[in-house]
Amino acid sequence: MPSPRFRDTGRYVRRPATAKILRPGNLADLMRYLDPESRAATPIRIRGAGTASTDCNTNDSGTIVDMTALDRIGTIDTHRLTVTVQAGVRLGTLVEALAPHGLELAANYDQPERTVGGAIASPCMAPGIGDRSSFLSSEAISIRLVTPDGRLMKVSQQQKHLLNALRLSYGMLGAIYEVTLRVCLISTFSASHRSIDLDTFADVVDRLATRDVGLKFYLLPHKDRVYLDLRRYEASPGNAHRVPWKLKDWGESTVLPHVFKSLNRIVPIPSVRYRLMDRLSTATHDLVNSRFVTNGTNVMASGRRRREPRDLLHSTWCFPACDFAVVVKAYREFCRKTLAESGYRTDLPAVGFGVAQDTAAMMSPSFDEPMVALNVVSTQRKGWEDFVIDLDQFAEHWGGVPLFSHSRALRAEYARDLYSNRLAFFRKIRSQLDPHGRLLNPFLSQCFE
Ligand SMILES: Cc1cc2nc3c(=O)[nH]c(=O)nc-3n(C[C@H](O)[C@H](O)[C@H](O)COP(=O)(O)OP(=O)(O)OC[C@H]3O[C@@H](n4cnc5c(N)ncnc54)[C@H](O)[C@@H]3O)c2cc1C
Repeated sequence: MPSPRFRDTGRYVRRPATAKILRPGNLADLMRYLDPESRAATPIRIRGAGTASTDCNTNDSGTIVDMTALDRIGTIDTHRLTVTVQAGVRLGTLVEALAPHGLELAANYDQPERTVGGAIASPCMAPGIGDRSSFLSSEAISIRLVTPDGRLMKVSQQQKHLLNALRLSYGMLGAIYEVTLRVCLISTFSASHRSIDLDTFADVVDRLATRDVGLKFYLLPHKDRVYLDLRRYEASPGNAHRVPWKLKDWGESTVLPHVFKSLNRIVPIPSVRYRLMDRLSTATHDLVNSRFVTNGTNVMASGRRRREPRDLLHSTWCFPACDFAVVVKAYREFCRKTLAESGYRTDLPAVGFGVAQDTAAMMSPSFDEPMVALNVVSTQRKGWEDFVIDLDQFAEHWGGVPLFSHSRALRAEYARDLYSNRLAFFRKIRSQLDPHGRLLNPFLSQCFE
């Protein structure tokens, strides 16, 4: 019998959630809420902005600790190139606070709404340019957390293994309260944009994903089109201007999702609607990913904070970069077959990027080799839950690496096999810090108990 899925699909009705939500305003509150004496109902789940697409950040019953009120930015050290922040600080707010000091985060992470805590405890990935890491978590050099029994604990680079376990720990080792992050001097990169067909993309993608270039792409499988965004640090990249980046962010993240949501309501005939959507996507990408956007910085390329992070449906899998040429062609076939058989397709372009090999986190999805992340995005709710189950089967077949926060409908057995030894080691640390499984919800316990 197949193992149950991690999340309800559209085929089942969920019971209404009864979890109590606590929102600590300071360290003492946080320690009190986690202290077993406080008798907060278990399981306890820690939540940042809540943008993950699996149940890693939520509970139907028990308690949810919402970290967003812990939002103070502490010391910005321009000499050591570090910043110390509380876990509830939003990524976009941090980017804006660093910029006047001539500093930026190591990469250009999407979703500025997410919190620093969420971005350290779960994969927050972006195309890493040159030797810069793809994961924000790898920049965390010191973490203060409240353990599952309510104690304050500091973990720094001296405790290498524990720090590696805490990065991408999905809130299972405790609530991250404060982080010290490495930051970089603002540097200008050159960005080149190209529109190519999918077969041409397949011919070059493995070379691009393993070179010094920051690879990002937008994939329209039904149009057979890929929009490439390649970034490099160069000795004299020239001037960078903010307006083109604002236009790009507005086109990709605001115009398309909002227009598509309306089209889903007002154009009832799918074939007409999809044709219109694909035309709009190509027109928008032709405009915003053109020669207009040439040079930039991670500050300029960071989108503005949006109010509705849950507006978009998304599911992400990583695939070994060396196989992606084959995977991307198979993905095109998968999308076409799914549309023909079920009538469902995603409306927005999938977003992909190169993820450098990274061993700084025990649960890193690119621990063994460079990966390409494929983030499938849609505004189409009806049929999505069944689509992500098919996507899971597709990803498993092609050796995809699931992310416990992003890969919706992932199968626990598959994830356990794939992360095998590292997962076993992580489990040992988890069972020492949280022997009674206070922070484990049913979703996570399938893999981590
Ligand atoms: C439209 C869309 C596009 C996206 N695109 C990308 C993308 O391009 N790249 C990418 O990497 N991600 C992407 N994401 C995924 C998402 O933004 C990340 O999963 C994000 O890192 C989660 O941050 P959060 O604050 O929302 O955390 P949450 O979703 O609230 O929590 C995520 C996990 O972290 C744990 N956690 C949160 N805060 C703490 C804390 N203080 N201490 C301990 N544990 C904690 C939670 O328990 C949970 O397990 C996208 C999401 C959306 C909605």
